[in-house]
Amino acid sequence: MKIIDKQTIRIPVILSFALVLFSVIVYLFFSYFRKQELTSYLQITAINRAKLIFEKNVNPKQFSDADRDLKESAYLQEQFTYYDSLGNVVYKSTNAIPHLTPNILKKVLSQKIILEKDEYERIFFAYRENKQSKLYIFEASAYDTAGFNKQTKLLYTLVFSTLILIALMAFSTRYFIRKDLKPLGNIAKRMKSISSKNLQNRIPEADLDNEIGNMAHTFNELLDRLDAAYTQQRNFVSYATHELRTPLAILLGNTQVTLMKTRNTEEYIETLNNFELDINNMINLMNSLLELARMNADSQSVPFTDVRVDDLLWQTSGIVKKKKPEYKINIEFADMPEYDEALIINGNAELMALVFRNLMENGCKYSPKQEVEVKILFDENNIILDFVDEGVGMSAKEMEHIYEAFYRTEKTKEISGHGIGLPLTKRIVEIHTGTITVKSVEGEGSTFRVSFPIKPLS
Ligand code: ADP
Repeated sequence: MKIIDKQTIRIPVILSFALVLFSVIVYLFFSYFRKQELTSYLQITAINRAKLIFEKNVNPKQFSDADRDLKESAYLQEQFTYYDSLGNVVYKSTNAIPHLTPNILKKVLSQKIILEKDEYERIFFAYRENKQSKLYIFEASAYDTAGFNKQTKLLYTLVFSTLILIALMAFSTRYFIRKDLKPLGNIAKRMKSISSKNLQNRIPEADLDNEIGNMAHTFNELLDRLDAAYTQQRNFVSYATHELRTPLAILLGNTQVTLMKTRNTEEYIETLNNFELDINNMINLMNSLLELARMNADSQSVPFTDVRVDDLLWQTSGIVKKKKPEYKINIEFADMPEYDEALIINGNAELMALVFRNLMENGCKYSPKQEVEVKILFDENNIILDFVDEGVGMSAKEMEHIYEAFYRTEKTKEISGHGIGLPLTKRIVEIHTGTITVKSVEGEGSTFRVSFPIKPLS
């Protein structure tokens, strides 16, 4: 069921219920007050008559004229009867029908005022006449024509206005909900039209300063992220193709040039050595790309063991230096660990070695001194490694992009590299629930800080 249909039923139903309840309460209170007013009127008039008869010695027959008027009165049909203490009628108004039964007589004698009701409101009460000390029973009753008329009119008014209000509520609720939800329909239509081909399209959000506007804004932010990821993915493929095609084209060119004439053994050896270098370069790139793809797709299956960080740093620096003897890598403890186990983290040694190698090689590769310093520090829960170099550095803008695949800064384009190392490094650090940050000043150098959570003491 649509929200609009649900709400246009639910809200009016709740409000109608409240309205009906309100009308019923108004009606019941009116009826109660009408009755109360009439009985107190009857009581006062009857007592006044009793006083006139017994205290002012007015002959009850004198009421006859008044009673006739009362009978004709369409508004309040009053009747008066009074009895002696045995229940015999002493006087009754013209139209009155006596109602005193032995049972009522008994009750009147003990309780003084009795209320009875058929279609008339009726009261009975006992009156003791002072002089002769005689007891009389008074009966006064009336049919509240005017009151009942008012009550019926009130009932019609309430039913009529309740029905009108319910209809009004149903229509206005539907109108306003439809009006408020209309932008949602437009947004849904725009959303439908967005696909990978037009990820730059956005849904309108400017005119809506409410939840729907908020949702549109959040959706646009999601599109921003998707667009960025999609563009990155597209670039990734084209960069990867480019990175592989260029050395292959060079290889092909070199092969064709070499084959143009017969060469001596030294020339063949030199050409093949160059080929080996290029092929190794390509193998490295392919391996990095495969590793990056694997880390993005299947990081869950990476096996973790206890890894001692300082040992792994030393081993890795040995491997890097063996490949590039000109690189200087200094590893030092800037803090001393409080206990030996603080050097152990739960991780994958092979992948962590890849992180250390990338950062050590970059530090050396991008600094004229070809030197990197690795500082080991600690905080309460983490082991922190700073890779500090005094190299070419990066601008703030460049630092924003270095974790994107194939990104390389202008200054370093001449130096060999593919721009895969840092994205891979970042992914591996994330898999180890660590963090990587960089601080850099152009022309002065860079510091990459990697932090891994220490394995808790068991
Ligand atoms: P590669 O080094 O193969 O180009 P990386 O992903 O490791 O790829 O690095 C990406 C880019 O980040 C590098 O090309 C370089 O422009 C910049 N970069 C990385 N490390 C440093 C550093 N220590 N000093 C200056 N620039 C760096």
